[in-house]
Amino acid sequence: MTPKTAPTKSRLKMAVIGGGRRCQSLLEVLKSKKITRLKTEIAGVADINPHATGLQYAKKQGIFTTHDYRDLFHIPGLELLINLTGDKNLSDELTNNKPKSLPVLNHTASRLFQEIVKGALTSTQVIREKEEELSLSHSFIQTMAEVTVVGVLLLDTNHKIIWINETLLKNTGLTKKEAIGKYCFQISHNAIAPCNDPDSACPMKETLQTGKSSHAIHEHILQEKTYYCDVSTYPILNSKGQTVQILEVIRDITQELNDKLERRTKSIKRDLARLVREDKMISLGKMVASVAHEINNPISAIINFNKLILKTITEGRPTDQDLTDFQRYLELIIREAQRCGMIVGNLLSFARQQPMEAKRIDLKEMFTRIMLLTQHRMTISNIIVTLNLDSAPLEVWGDYTQIQQCFTNFVFNAIEAMPKGGALLIRGRAPSDQEKVWVEVTDTGVGIPKDNMDKIFEPFFTTKAEVSGVGLGLSMVYGIIKEHRGSIHVTSEVDKGTTFHITLPKNPG
Ligand code: ADP
Ligand code: MG
Repeated sequence: MTPKTAPTKSRLKMAVIGGGRRCQSLLEVLKSKKITRLKTEIAGVADINPHATGLQYAKKQGIFTTHDYRDLFHIPGLELLINLTGDKNLSDELTNNKPKSLPVLNHTASRLFQEIVKGALTSTQVIREKEEELSLSHSFIQTMAEVTVVGVLLLDTNHKIIWINETLLKNTGLTKKEAIGKYCFQISHNAIAPCNDPDSACPMKETLQTGKSSHAIHEHILQEKTYYCDVSTYPILNSKGQTVQILEVIRDITQELNDKLERRTKSIKRDLARLVREDKMISLGKMVASVAHEINNPISAIINFNKLILKTITEGRPTDQDLTDFQRYLELIIREAQRCGMIVGNLLSFARQQPMEAKRIDLKEMFTRIMLLTQHRMTISNIIVTLNLDSAPLEVWGDYTQIQQCFTNFVFNAIEAMPKGGALLIRGRAPSDQEKVWVEVTDTGVGIPKDNMDKIFEPFFTTKAEVSGVGLGLSMVYGIIKEHRGSIHVTSEVDKGTTFHITLPKNPG
């Protein structure tokens, strides 16, 4: 229903007495197309002054004008007279002269009428402007939603799609027509009901329950491709504050996650490399302390034999017996020196900074070296070592230095767990029907309390006094073994002992 098509007879037919400025402004307001809900018509204007502005204006509009207000009484179908003059005499005259059935709005009422008309104009204008604003923001939002790289869905409270943007359509491979009316879980999860997985709760359900926005990371499978999506849902409320629709914004974070994962993996590898270096320095310190005695004893022996030989030579010509003794002393000196050389060599090879290099490793040879470097500490701690190794070759594939560091750690941990002595057993098996070598390092030490079992592999977890433990050993061991595609687990009983079970692959993966 528009004013243009409204039949003329439904309009309020009026005439105005007083053709001044106020008459003109009234005519202008009523003429304005912006007044859509007020159906009126001014059918005549009267003023004794033929030059009055309102009168002249009315004339130009084709409205009947007269200098005698009584002429207005004859306008067919006139329903209302508006007296804008404010002239008291005229007002009394009018009351007496006008047809009885014709109502008159006197000066005050006319002003009120004018104000109402103006008000109607203003509110109509405001409504128009608001409508325009609304339509502008609607098309703005629609355009934004279409051009954005995130997926946008408008859903009803039953998870049904009301609207979907182009980005999401592209990923789903559906047309707008196909997608609208489908359920969101149908297209994003290929499911027949809303997601119920407690690990990735449906944010829409939460928004429906709480009336607040919600957020979750979901795995969406669209056209057989997996997307990791950051899904946010926002309630759309009616004037009563009830949620009537849900706006769902879906951001594809697959690439972002992959990049993050790659960065994280790189940083873990860097951390592991740092850990290996730091742990190496710690182990080296412990080894040096242990081998210092190993070297000291043979060196004392070497010096004493040399002194003996020198003394005999300086006392005169050596006898045949002396020469036989010298030979024995020299043999001993060579043996002791060789032993020193071997210990220092092992220490050097342990300390050497080498780039990681995978090759075949003979674990039997490695265990013997580790024993040599730790022997003194075992002896002074009253620890009896047993190597129980398969007769078959005990060979694994990996980086020699790193694997050696792992076993050195197990051995030092075992020594430190048995301050009052005990037994250390290293068992190694290489079952021919398996791709893995098994090693168990068992001690009869203090054991690990249950509460600490899942903490021992954490960096900086230590139960040892500040000087002897920094808690880096096992976290490094864990990293290295995982890196080598191996496995590690521990069994322990307090005051009985501990066993570390390790597997390492025989061959490159
Ligand atoms: P650290 O030896 O510097 O303390 P580790 O990472 O090597 O650090 O070990 C962490 C903790 O695990 C130790 O402090 C200790 O409590 C426990 N642990 C490791 N090996 C043994 C073992 N053989 N017996 C008892 N406890 C052990
Ligand atoms: Mg340790």
